[in-house]
Amino acid sequence: MIVVLRLGHRIKRDKRISTHVALVARAFCANEIVFSGDEDRELICSVKKIVSEWGDEFKINYEKNWRNFLKRKKEEGFEIIHLTMYGLPITKLIEKIRISNKDKIIVVGGAKVPGEVYEIADFNVSITNQPHSEVAALAVFLHEFFQGKELEKKFDGKVRIIPQEKGKKIVRN
Ligand code: SAM
Repeated sequence: MIVVLRLGHRIKRDKRISTHVALVARAFCANEIVFSGDEDRELICSVKKIVSEWGDEFKINYEKNWRNFLKRKKEEGFEIIHLTMYGLPITKLIEKIRISNKDKIIVVGGAKVPGEVYEIADFNVSITNQPHSEVAALAVFLHEFFQGKELEKKFDGKVRIIPQEKGKKIVRN
């Protein structure tokens, strides 16, 4: 079970990037996205709509209190993986993370990540030590975690793309 926690969502500034975090989580085989920060019903509705069209089980939730959420999940046995440019390189940690059987919360931040997140995390993982984006960090982490197998996942959506060398082919069930 892989849950992605997106911290610090701001309705005014982050709609697009938070949507992209959710879409990457879903496309790269995480099971759930949890948003924190501003409660944004429109964001949740738009991700739910995409999931209902494009298929498969993917949960979308909101948690006002991310501290309690992380504590609760830790007590339930989840391992907390925080993606940050300040962490240890993914190349050093990924095998250890992959072989542990624990369910996982992957935390990605927004503008500023509170220090407690670094403390509660079992792993602070960097995807290079350069600043980039939560979307890129999440995609690379999941790709490394699943060793590329996530790219072969088939989705059972109402809408499906038939890959083409050129042009677009979409079928609707
Ligand atoms: N100073 C922040 C940090 O701690 O990485 C950068 C903020 S960045 C706009 C938002 C989020 O993108 C971060 O909280 C982190 O989850 C992710 N991120 C950005 N660069 C990263 C990197 N090199 N490695 C891992 N995660 C990164």
